[in-house]
Amino acid sequence: MTHGGRADEGASDLVGGAVITVTMLGSGSRGNAILIDGSEGTVLVDAGFGVRTLAKRFETAQRAPDDVGAVLLTHEHVDHACGAAAACDRWSWPIHATSATLAALSVQASGSPMLTVPLAERGATTVCGFSVEHAPVPHDAADCRALVLTDVRSGARAGIVLDAGHVPDGLSDFLDRLDLLVLESNHDSALLTNGPYPWPLKQRISGGQGHLSNAEAAHLAAACAHRGLRGVVLAHLSETNNTPDLALGASRDALRKAGWKRDSVSAAPQRLPLSPVRTDGGVGRPAATQLALGL
Ligand SMILES: [Zn+2]
Ligand SMILES: [Zn+2]
Repeated sequence: MTHGGRADEGASDLVGGAVITVTMLGSGSRGNAILIDGSEGTVLVDAGFGVRTLAKRFETAQRAPDDVGAVLLTHEHVDHACGAAAACDRWSWPIHATSATLAALSVQASGSPMLTVPLAERGATTVCGFSVEHAPVPHDAADCRALVLTDVRSGARAGIVLDAGHVPDGLSDFLDRLDLLVLESNHDSALLTNGPYPWPLKQRISGGQGHLSNAEAAHLAAACAHRGLRGVVLAHLSETNNTPDLALGASRDALRKAGWKRDSVSAAPQRLPLSPVRTDGGVGRPAATQLALGL
């Protein structure tokens, strides 16, 4: 399993019109939640909004909490898990995460009732029709993980990398042959350096256990480029130290140089859902962002 090849090499197209749909309900330091629909079910990756906000995001995206069969957590930080205990109690969602993340979450949730299911330490765990694999990413949390969800019926694959201080060796191999990639593109290095944050916070964000810069994200996106990659969604953009244009420009440029022929790169906003992105290249429903702006 090698990577770094050009985009037109060695990839296979999806068979049978298989579809995974990714709907970003919101992403950034104020909260993250991602709906992923497959052939047999729907999971919510991260629940970093309170129940009321989460319910509103579902409504704006023309979806319902009852669509969701389970929650997967990347890590326990509040912007990824603050709503997990309350939302799972309200909507009877089980929470899947690594044992270390679940332990950190139980401390944070201070005894709130939660149905938790640890992900297998090695190999895949089946959740709602997805084969879920995980790999460690460097971040100042108990056990932050990148996730790959493979639709068991069709083989379509979606990868999610949020909150990574740097790109560790082997991560692009883990993200092999994805149909969709959701990738943190947190900050523009110059904006962070020259911006208003206090020095210790700048050091934390740019350090090896913090967050990915646009350049680091672009480099990883290019390493994941292949003919079967249908879309890239940039996530966790800083509202202070980044702009969608800067993040999109960096990744689009790197993907083009890697030989990727498509132009399906989008940036998830913090305060509104993003229109769904599908592995068949289509748009799943009317643009949620436009709907929200028209309310
Ligand atoms: Zn985060
Ligand atoms: Zn984090």
